[in-house]
Amino acid sequence: MQPLGLAYHELFTRHDAGPGHPETPNRIDAVMNRINDAVWRGSVEIVEAREATQEEVALVHLPSYIEAMRRLCEAGGEYLPAMESNVGRESYPAAMRAVGAGLTLADGVMEGRWKIGFAPTRPPGHHAVKARPKGFCIFCSIAVLAKYMQQKYNLQRICIVDFDVHHGNGTQEAFWEDPTVLYCSLHRDNLFPYSSGRSADIGAGEGEGFTVNIPLPAGSDDEAYLEAFDHYLVPKVRDFKPQVLLVSAGFDAHILDIIGGMRLTGEAYGGFAVRLLELADQTAEGRIISLLEGGYSIRGLEEGVSRYLGRLIEDDG
Ligand SMILES: [Zn+2]
Repeated sequence: MQPLGLAYHELFTRHDAGPGHPETPNRIDAVMNRINDAVWRGSVEIVEAREATQEEVALVHLPSYIEAMRRLCEAGGEYLPAMESNVGRESYPAAMRAVGAGLTLADGVMEGRWKIGFAPTRPPGHHAVKARPKGFCIFCSIAVLAKYMQQKYNLQRICIVDFDVHHGNGTQEAFWEDPTVLYCSLHRDNLFPYSSGRSADIGAGEGEGFTVNIPLPAGSDDEAYLEAFDHYLVPKVRDFKPQVLLVSAGFDAHILDIIGGMRLTGEAYGGFAVRLLELADQTAEGRIISLLEGGYSIRGLEEGVSRYLGRLIEDDG
């Protein structure tokens, strides 16, 4: 067993995306309850997710967008078509804590408190782009985390693995021309955000070859995903020799998820964890920081998260 740092804040359950919306606060309560009941609960240290500063969020987003979102939420919010969600008074502080959760874990991991960290963040982040929200997301937490680790810890090679069923267009955009961040995404072909994440999209300029998109057909199962992981993702990451692995951990490819249309069981999420541990042990001193993205079946989410974290924690090196 190895210790896991878990960055939490109650604000993750306060953002209200609107009536009947699949991105509900229940998702976080379910995940936390499942973790509290897990046999490995003793290996989890829960710490408070700090708030990110506007300056930190501006590592990825335009200051004018950040400030506009703050003012909009403070005024009571509204329905945002690009986000396909409502925002309200607590959405901005929740999003700032979601970004801050990653930064809290980065400091804990780099100071050697734990090698692995996880945050059950809401709202999710990987669709948000420089100047606007998108697809349930306000700020791209995983991208801010990578930029923060580049700056504060002077890391030269950071790898972001994204196994959410949707393509992380926001993360891809942030590092499109950056050869120091390898972005690898496994996602369903021709799903939201449509026309994003084609295998021919590999980055540009100095960043060419440092974006790896692996679209999979609808209905893909554990075997298809793990095969793609082993064949396309593992060799790329191994060659890149990352100093830390960051993970956009979405669980909407689970078979019970009505949005994703894929057929993963808990087994696949455990399989991802085993492979990520092996990669992290080779060049990243075992460091893996995962942020929750999607996952809209409560049962699927509980199963996915518990199998994923369980395997990370049970790693004996
Ligand atoms: Zn998703």
